[in-house]
Amino acid sequence: MTSKQTVDIKDLTQSDLEDFVVKLGHKRYQARQLIKWLYQKGAINFHEMTDLPTNFREALRRVAFISTLTPNEVEISRDGSKKFLFSLMDGHSVESVLVPEVSRLTLCISTQVGCPLSCRFCLSGSMGFVRNLTTSEILNQILAAQRQETPRRRITNIVFMGMGEPLANYDNTAKAIEMMQYDPGLGLSGRRITLSTSGLVPEMERLMATGLRFQLAVSLNAADDDTRSFLMPINKSHPLEEVLESCRRFRLRPRERIIFEYVLIDGINDSPRDALRLVRLLKGIPCKVNLIPFNESPEQEFSRPDEKKILGFQMALLDQYITCIVRKSRGGDISAACGQLRGRFRRVQNSP
Ligand code: SF4
Repeated sequence: MTSKQTVDIKDLTQSDLEDFVVKLGHKRYQARQLIKWLYQKGAINFHEMTDLPTNFREALRRVAFISTLTPNEVEISRDGSKKFLFSLMDGHSVESVLVPEVSRLTLCISTQVGCPLSCRFCLSGSMGFVRNLTTSEILNQILAAQRQETPRRRITNIVFMGMGEPLANYDNTAKAIEMMQYDPGLGLSGRRITLSTSGLVPEMERLMATGLRFQLAVSLNAADDDTRSFLMPINKSHPLEEVLESCRRFRLRPRERIIFEYVLIDGINDSPRDALRLVRLLKGIPCKVNLIPFNESPEQEFSRPDEKKILGFQMALLDQYITCIVRKSRGGDISAACGQLRGRFRRVQNSP
């Protein structure tokens, strides 16, 4: 049971947890044991943490609780991707998608219920903004998905590409990234955590300044300000050049590159001229471009370009030595593509 006075222990970072443990009259190093129980062993109550002193467990139980998420629904795609629908304590819901590949198991997580940024091509954006997820709600998506996979496979990669703009929920996203990397805990390296942003420049700079390691992905979607502002209203506050300047300042390790995502929409941003503009814009930035052909749905006004146009766009970038792949839509049959997560569930629930 939880109460307003108790602390959701997974909202605390490692240093918060150390201070918390010390305030309870216990040793700082015991925070480390606690983290191991929470994130490696997936403990769901303090009672099972048998190597912690009984009085410590009792003290924790009085002042804190361990939140969990359990999927209400799990849909499995023909390609093996799984979509989890989680109900939160206040009745709202979010989704995560698990994508298996030969050498990795990637979980795409959400950071907000809805999204305030209203990108025109995105179903999450069309829902409006409901609220930010807490740190524990972000982390619990990983733990819940991992519970489903244990003992078969471990989640190896996390991508912040589910519902919401992660940097619009800056504090909880930054805390979650920190805890994902903590070892012993989830112990994921920064190379395996991809943060995808629509380009909130001040928060990008703030996160870079923390020294936290992560792979930066920027949702670009247009090569000129007019088109980008039409598709993504945030571009009016942080236009392309400002976003790209910030990308140029991002500290990359050897062989690392920034990922630029580009949703290809028929007749909007998919012309040969758009491709050449994009080449010019990205000049000098070590990067890779992920082209994502628009995933059509009945609620949306746009269409997917034909294969010839998609290939032509890709070739224009490859010809200029820009690494560029056309992203396979995983989980297409369960509406698990970016920006299509909660929309479909809402439709199902609302239908008679
Ligand atoms: S694309 Fe991302 S930032 Fe834009 S509305 Fe959708 S969830 Fe929000």
